[in-house]
Amino acid sequence: MAGLTVDVIQREAKSFGEYQKGRSLYYKHMVSLGQVETFWRGEYKITAEAEENRVRLQISDGTIASFSCSCQDGTSRRLCRHAVAAALAWLKNSPQ
Ligand SMILES: [Zn+2]
Repeated sequence: MAGLTVDVIQREAKSFGEYQKGRSLYYKHMVSLGQVETFWRGEYKITAEAEENRVRLQISDGTIASFSCSCQDGTSRRLCRHAVAAALAWLKNSPQ
């Protein structure tokens, strides 16, 4: 069990609108997962690309421990649409 849920992703998003935009990117297959590294139980580092932006996510114990994105919202504390899309893509692809 990955521990991460859609609810957590939504809560960590910059806004509900940003979450919806990220979800839309995911459903339109406009996000592609790159490297997924597993470090320890419940700890993952993910890279992804969406709308020509590079996303990095660190997931730890079902929470988003850190993220960055090359878009203008990528240094915010809360997830941009690309990070939302990447997190959703990872969530749906991860072995549970
Ligand atoms: Zn972004």
